[in-house]
Amino acid sequence: MSLAGKVCLITGAAGGLGSATARRLAADGVRLVLTDVDGGRLAALAEDLPVETVVHAGDVSVEADVDAAVAAGVAAFGRIDLHHLNAGVPGPLVRLPELSVADWDRVLGINLRGAFLGVRAAFRQYEVQRSGGAIVLTASIASLRASDDLLAYHASKHGVLGLLKGAALYGGPIGVRVNAVAPGIVPTALFAGAGDGPGGGDDMARRAATTPLRRPGTGDEIASVVAFLLGEGAAYMTGETVSVDGGAAAV
Ligand code: NAD
Repeated sequence: MSLAGKVCLITGAAGGLGSATARRLAADGVRLVLTDVDGGRLAALAEDLPVETVVHAGDVSVEADVDAAVAAGVAAFGRIDLHHLNAGVPGPLVRLPELSVADWDRVLGINLRGAFLGVRAAFRQYEVQRSGGAIVLTASIASLRASDDLLAYHASKHGVLGLLKGAALYGGPIGVRVNAVAPGIVPTALFAGAGDGPGGGDDMARRAATTPLRRPGTGDEIASVVAFLLGEGAAYMTGETVSVDGGAAAV
C-alpha cells in the first residue's frame, strides 16, 4: 500500500495545504514536483524536505507554465505518478451586484481554469506512460454550499466538481482515478487578506467553533486524506469528493 518511490506533482505547494501534502508525502518516501507562483517560498520548502524534489515557479492559469511544470518533473524523474491539484485563491467578499468581471475572471481563472489545465496536463502525461495514475483536486465545502457574498469562489469550487466527474469518467477505463478533498476551515494564508473582518481569520475561527467537532482543521488532517486518496487504499474510489471539515457539511 506504500506510495514510496512514486512521483507526485503538487500545485499551490508553497501554501498551507499544499506544503502539508508535500511534507506528508515526503515522509512516505514520495519524490516531489512542487509548483506555485511564489518561487521563493517553494525553494525554502524544498530545502526542508527529506526527498528528491524539483521546484517549478509558475501560474496554474497559464497553459505554458502548467505544461512546463509537468515537463520539469518528467525531465527530473522520467515520470509523474500522482497529482495534487490544489492551488487556489479566495474570492472577494462582496454582494452579487458589486462583483466585478475582473474579480470573477481572476478567481475562475486560477481555481477552475487552473484545475482544468492541471488535469489535462496530468492526463496527457498519463497517456504517454500508459500505467494509470491518480489525481486529487482541492475542492472545498464551498463546492457543496453557497453564500450570497462569495459568489466567484463558490462558482469556481462547484465547477471543480464538474471537472472532477468528467475527468473520472474519462480516466476510469484507462486506470486513472480522480477524486477531491473538500476542506472546511483550516487557518492558512487564504484568510489573511480579509484581516479580522468577515471572511478573515477571527471570523473563520468563530465559524469553525460551530462545526460538530468545534474547531478548525489542520493542514496535516487534510494531507492525510489526500495521501489516502492518492494511494492504493482508495483503489476502488473515483469521482468522489471527501469532506474533511469537522462535520460542517453534514449539518
Ligand atoms: P494558501 O493561500 O496558503 O495557499 C494557496 C497557494 O496557492 C499559495 O501558495 C499561492 O501562492 C498559490 N497560488 C495562488 N495563485 C496561484 C496561481 N495563479 N498559480 C499557482 N499558484 C498559485 O491557501 P490554502 O488554504 O493552502 O489553499 C489551498 C487550496 O485549498 C485552495 O484551492 C483553497 O481554495 C482550498 N481550500 C482551503 C480551505 C482552508 O480553509 N484553508 C478550505 C477549503 C478549500
